[in-house]
Amino acid sequence: MLTVQKASKSSAPRLARRVAPSAVGRWQSVRGLATPSEPYDVVVIGGGPGGYVAAIKAGQLGLRTACIEKRGALGGTCLNVGCIPSKAMLNNSHMYHQTQHDLKHRGIDVSGVSLNLTQMLKAKQDSVTGLTKGVEHLFKQNKVDYIKGTASFSSPTTLSVQLNDGGETEVNAKNVIIATGSEVAPFPGGAIEIDEKQIVSSTGALELTEVPGKMVVIGGGIIGLEMGSVWSRLGADVTVVEFLGGIGGVGIDEEIAKQFQKTLTKQGFKFKLNTKVTGAEKRDGKVFVNVEGAKGGKEEVLEADVVLVSVGRRPVTTGLNLEKIGVEVDPKGRIVIDSQFNTTVAGIKCIGDVTFGPMLAHKAEEEGIAAAEYLHSGHGHVNYGTIPSVVYTHPEVAWVGKTEQELKADGVQYKIGKFPFMANSRAKTNLDTEGQVKFITEKETDKILGVHIIGPNAGEMIAEAVVAMEYGASSEDIARTTHAHPTLSEAFREAALAAYTGKAIHF
Ligand SMILES: Cc1cc2nc3c(=O)[nH]c(=O)nc-3n(C[C@H](O)[C@H](O)[C@H](O)COP(=O)(O)OP(=O)(O)OC[C@H]3O[C@@H](n4cnc5c(N)ncnc54)[C@H](O)[C@@H]3O)c2cc1C
Repeated sequence: MLTVQKASKSSAPRLARRVAPSAVGRWQSVRGLATPSEPYDVVVIGGGPGGYVAAIKAGQLGLRTACIEKRGALGGTCLNVGCIPSKAMLNNSHMYHQTQHDLKHRGIDVSGVSLNLTQMLKAKQDSVTGLTKGVEHLFKQNKVDYIKGTASFSSPTTLSVQLNDGGETEVNAKNVIIATGSEVAPFPGGAIEIDEKQIVSSTGALELTEVPGKMVVIGGGIIGLEMGSVWSRLGADVTVVEFLGGIGGVGIDEEIAKQFQKTLTKQGFKFKLNTKVTGAEKRDGKVFVNVEGAKGGKEEVLEADVVLVSVGRRPVTTGLNLEKIGVEVDPKGRIVIDSQFNTTVAGIKCIGDVTFGPMLAHKAEEEGIAAAEYLHSGHGHVNYGTIPSVVYTHPEVAWVGKTEQELKADGVQYKIGKFPFMANSRAKTNLDTEGQVKFITEKETDKILGVHIIGPNAGEMIAEAVVAMEYGASSEDIARTTHAHPTLSEAFREAALAAYTGKAIHF
């Protein structure tokens, strides 16, 4: 059970009475006042998708578990300022845009369509609140104690917690899982300061109370393109400045990235690739962004009402006292772990954005489950070769496994099978035919090495590729599997058929 000791002189029982009930939730209400006793089996620092899932799994495995979260709400970046609010805005801005531009030719006449941004932001907030409360409920259901505060290591088995409601407490643990996640990376060199009003990060971009006339997005990765899409659909003139020669960030197949860029350009996006932002100046209610060629050369100034800085995220380890207890951190600020999530200190594991690998919620969740399983039974499983990525624009872009450029670099012989949604009956009836499914298979064995989709519902469809790859399937396995007609998933099967036989049926 939780051990509560005041950092200063008072006796432990006295402090236990002084801790606000809301600060420690179920610990107070279910276990009664804490008294110094057995340490927790596991304490998780951070209540994001990595941390809260690890805590729930540990609870389900019968480990006495607590989760310490400083934000005042569970769900971490993902539920509060990431995946969920951005998808709420993407979904609703898509409906607004579709109502304005796409309903008439479907035989639906609407008039008087207007944007109520206040309500759209409220709808977003309602989904966030509903989901974060839902996680609190899951904690109760799985007997996880929720401690609202900021944790820091006093020793490898003792955490000092500054409670959100005031006061300090100590929590003892046999094992600790660090899941403190990531935060917005500032613009390199501090040349641009984020004020979250005119120069915003993704967090500010989810809260704009007016549609900007002109928006400059610095960084053509997933977050920049998703948030750019939201504001473009609501009426902003969006220019994306990207240092690299293509969009979509790490891991996207080059062919798909080019198609994606064309599609977004048709939707009104402007792109400045191979272009470096050197600074920005706020003047007369505007922001002036200075850019030049990535390798020097022509300079230009872009005028904007709002600038979104989306140049990446960095791990959060500040204040954890890692140096004191000997947990190693690499030069990029990531906590160093082995294949079983062990840090360099016995009894302390680490998962999610704060360590290696793609910064994705589902990757953090998988690691959370595996870390809890390792603690319980010594076995866990995450297949890093089958972690999908999704860009929730319209059309969506999704992929898993290897890209063509990676296979070329590795000298692997491969085959390609493609199928365009233009030739898929469901996409045609839905009047939503942009994109394609692309299979990449090993030439000799037909094993699926990668699947890359741009098209409607790509984010859902990629799950089939993940399952197939998890089980080591060949494209023949997929091509010989019945897919319901008429569905978009037939395009998936046809691309597999094209990879396996060289010919699709309907294209
Ligand atoms: C705009 C945006 C959109 C995104 N969209 C997607 C998406 O669609 N799909 C996807 O897979 N990923 C998406 N992500 C990424 C995703 O949010 C992260 O990969 C995921 O949240 C990482 O989970 P985590 O548990 O490792 O860390 P986090 O979610 O960052 O959670 C860490 C938690 O730890 C807490 N914490 C930190 N230090 C302490 C401390 N000392 N004491 C107590 N608590 C502490 C923090 O308050 C935080 O709540 C998006 C991110 C952003 C910003």
